Amino acid sequence: MKISVPKGTKDILPEEMKSWRYIEELFTDVCMNAGYGEIRTPVFEYTNLFNRGVGETTDIVQKEMYTFEDKGGRSLTLRPEGTAGIVRSYIENGMASLPQPVKLFYKITAYRYENVQKGRFREFNQLGAEVLGADSSNADVELISLLGNFFTKLGIGDLKLEINSIGCNICRPAYNEILKEYYKDKIDGMCADCKRRYETNPLRLIDCKEAKCIAASKDVPFIADNLCENCSDHFASLRTGLERLDINYNINKQIVRGLDYYKKTVFEFISNNVGTQGTVCGGGRYDGLIGALGGSDVSGVGFSMGTERLLMELESRGSLPGNEVYPEIYFVTIGEKSYAYARKISYALRKADIYTEMDLLGRSVKAQMKDANRKKAKYVVVMGEEEISMNKAEILVMETGERKEVSLDSIYKRIIEKKV
Ligand code: ATP
Ligand code: MG
Repeated sequence: MKISVPKGTKDILPEEMKSWRYIEELFTDVCMNAGYGEIRTPVFEYTNLFNRGVGETTDIVQKEMYTFEDKGGRSLTLRPEGTAGIVRSYIENGMASLPQPVKLFYKITAYRYENVQKGRFREFNQLGAEVLGADSSNADVELISLLGNFFTKLGIGDLKLEINSIGCNICRPAYNEILKEYYKDKIDGMCADCKRRYETNPLRLIDCKEAKCIAASKDVPFIADNLCENCSDHFASLRTGLERLDINYNINKQIVRGLDYYKKTVFEFISNNVGTQGTVCGGGRYDGLIGALGGSDVSGVGFSMGTERLLMELESRGSLPGNEVYPEIYFVTIGEKSYAYARKISYALRKADIYTEMDLLGRSVKAQMKDANRKKAKYVVVMGEEEISMNKAEILVMETGERKEVSLDSIYKRIIEKKV
């Protein structure tokens, strides 16, 4: 029986891993240079965490979670996103008593039972960062500027930044009433999801992707025009902060974001390329989440981006990053004695962090030479019994075809000192 990967998942093979590694290392550097520490939390958590932390009314909790019972009868869920687990960890590890704010970043796999399509998988990867314990919009500006820096370094600094404010517990309830009034005589013609959202989370009606719902939302009043003073000030200082850093943005009053816990600032980085599934990165402020999960009343703000979508964006521009690595030296051996000798030098060089190659299949000299060529080795040494007994070897400089006769026991030193 042929077994394939589960639907919505994929293997990432060594050739592709070059780009992955490049992106993940770049993201790590960019975060570390802004004082963020890396955090890893479990792939699965108690289901309750996401019910409360992502929100009962969200598509994620309603439709997309991988939930199962373990052998001990506990309800567990594969994480559909990163923030809830990080907030749990912040509370559980007493991070509120550390100097604030606590700045964290992560690289994770996430799991959602989705309709699989281009850029939409069931297991996917996210890179994200969070600032916990900072109320002011300075934290929002820092995160957005960090992303701007990261995208520019990747050569996609022209991604479109869209920002919005979706209010707080003070202005949202009044706005929800305005929304319900607006949709009152339209809701019958909207989709089943929207009918449910009308009762549970009317804000989400605005970003339904169904054609009939988009039409119904044509003249909807926006929360950005109905903010309380505090939210309005926060939004204004966010915009000023971005402008002072020359970060271009559009206000998109339609952005409400998928997770229930977002308050005030929400933002997205969107691709201009049709080849990419719309949003590359989404983020926002989640004041109140930490309290809702049993912690103290600490505010938070963060973002998360899909690594696959980043890669799609780079690929569609023909600029997939990733460094090639080539062997510094390839030892072509003939017979057991020469193999053993070469292996010793090779091992010593690898211990000194130099990439060396050797045959593992007992291949002919010709086949080994071919392999050295294919791997684009910089130098090749051909070693037989005779060379060993005479302590001599020929180093072949592959680029020029030049041959140099050297003493066998000088090879290690020559390579290390880069004086071949
Ligand atoms: P979308 O509107 O595309 O469903 P979302 O609002 O559900 O996105 P978030 O929960 O904010 O997405 O996740 C942050 C980022 O993770 C997204 O901007 C996207 O890049 C990526 N992402 C989300 N779901 C998937 C998925 N199923 N497959 C691949 N990437 C995803
Ligand atoms: Mg989604």
